[in-house]
Amino acid sequence: MKVKTRFAPSPTGFLHVGGARTALYSWLHAKSKGGEFVLRIEDTDIARSTQEAVEAILEGMTWMGLTWDEGPYYQTKRFDRYKEIIAKMLVDGTAYKCYCTKERVNELREAQEKAGLSPRYDSKCRELAPQNTDAPYVIRFKNPKEGSVKFDDHVRGPIEFSNTELDDLIIQRTDGTPTYNFCVVVDDWDMGITYVVRGEDHINNTPRQINILKALGAPLPEYAHVAMILGDDGAKLSKRHGAVSVMQFRDEGYLPEALKNYLVRLGWSHGDQEIFSEKEMIELFSLDAINKAPSAFNTEKLLWLNQHYIKSLDPAYVAQHLAWHMDNQKIDMTNGPALADIVSALSERAKTLVELATTSRYFFEEYEAFDATAAKKHLRPVAKDALVLVQQKLQANDDWTDPALHQIINDTADELGVGMGKVGMPLRVAITGGGQSPSLDVTLRLIGKERSIKRIDRALEFIAARVAAS
Ligand code: GLU
Repeated sequence: MKVKTRFAPSPTGFLHVGGARTALYSWLHAKSKGGEFVLRIEDTDIARSTQEAVEAILEGMTWMGLTWDEGPYYQTKRFDRYKEIIAKMLVDGTAYKCYCTKERVNELREAQEKAGLSPRYDSKCRELAPQNTDAPYVIRFKNPKEGSVKFDDHVRGPIEFSNTELDDLIIQRTDGTPTYNFCVVVDDWDMGITYVVRGEDHINNTPRQINILKALGAPLPEYAHVAMILGDDGAKLSKRHGAVSVMQFRDEGYLPEALKNYLVRLGWSHGDQEIFSEKEMIELFSLDAINKAPSAFNTEKLLWLNQHYIKSLDPAYVAQHLAWHMDNQKIDMTNGPALADIVSALSERAKTLVELATTSRYFFEEYEAFDATAAKKHLRPVAKDALVLVQQKLQANDDWTDPALHQIINDTADELGVGMGKVGMPLRVAITGGGQSPSLDVTLRLIGKERSIKRIDRALEFIAARVAAS
C-alpha cells in the first residue's frame, strides 16, 4: 500500500519548531518510502483559528522546503462530510443522541471527582429508544465497553488502553458542529493516511480514534508519537528560551538547511553522523530510530550547523537567502558587488545571515564614520605616505584582480621599506571604515576601483584633520 503521511496543524499561532520537527519527520517518512505527504489545516476551533496563523504555517512549511503533495485541506470545508458519516453512524447504531443536560453531566463529574474517580460519562442515553422530542442533544460515539485498544507505536513501542478508561465521546455538539477527535478520524480515513506522525500530547486521543475507525470499518494507520522539545533548562521549549517559531529562525539568520538538519538530529540519529543533506535524510530516516526521550534544544549546535551550511552551500543559493536580510536591514544594494561574491568572501566568518548582512554593508554603502578604535590605531600621520602611495598605484592600475591588487600592496610596502601590516591596516580602515574585513585583495576587488580611491581620500582627510587638531 502506498505510504501516506500528513501534518495536521491547528492554525492558532505561528509554526512552532516542535511542530516543524514533527512535520519534517512525517515528510521524511513519506519521502523515504516513495509515498505522499498531506497538509491538513485543523481549523474547527473557530474561536481560536485565524487566517493569519494559516498563512504563517504555510509560510513556515514553504521556507523549510516541506512541500506537500496534497492539500492544504481545511476541516471547516468538510463539515458536510462529517455530518454524512454521523448520520450513518446513528443508523448503524455506532453513535447515539444524548439528551443529558450540561447540569447533569457537570453534577456527574463533580460526584465522580469527589469519590476520587476520573470523570466519565455514564452512558445514560446509550440504549435510549428514539425520542420524539425537540430537546437539545449531542451525539456520542458508542465506545466498546469491554476489551482494550492496543497499538504498536513506532516511537514508544506497544501501548494498551483498557476500554473501561474511555467513555462515550461526544462527536457532535449541541450546535451541530463535529468535534475534534471525530474530524481527525474521518480525515485520516478519507485521505488514506497510513502513518500518523504527531506529538505525544495526542497519545491519549489515539485509542478513541482507533475505536471510531474500527466502528467505521476503516483501515487503521500506524502511529508514531514524537516526544517534546525542551529548553536548555529542561522545561518545555517556549518563547522565554528564545526563538521558537520557524520564521523567527529565518529572521535571526538561519538557513532552512541548517534548521532542517538540526531538527532531524534532535531526536533521531544515524550513528555519529551530524551533517545530513536532504538526500541523505530521505535515504536514512526511519521512524523506528526516533528517540523516545524528550530532546533539549541547543542553540550552539544549530549555529555550528548554520555556519557549516553558509560556508558549504552554493554561494548563489546562500545569496538568495541573504538578499532577504539585506532588505530587512535596509542595505541599499544599488551599488556594489553581486551578493554571491559577498557570500564567497565573507562566509568563513559569519555564523548567521544577519551577521553576514551587517558586516557586508560597507561593500554597498559608504560607511558613516570610521570605527573609532581602528581609526585611532591605524589612521595616524605615519600612515599617510603608505596611503598616498598605494592610492597612486591603485589609480594607475587597470587590472582589478586579486593577484594584481595583492602585488600592489606588496610593492608599496617594499618601496617604503615597511612591513605589509603598515600598508595593509591603514588601507583596510580606509576602504572599509573598520579594522576587520576579508583579505585586502578580495575586499578591494569587490568594492571596486572608483570607490576604493575615494575612500582612501576620506582616510587622508581624516589624518589631515587629526594633524591639524594636534
Ligand atoms: N491539530 C493537532 C495539533 O495541532 C494535530 C492532530 C494530529 O496530528 O492528529 O496539535
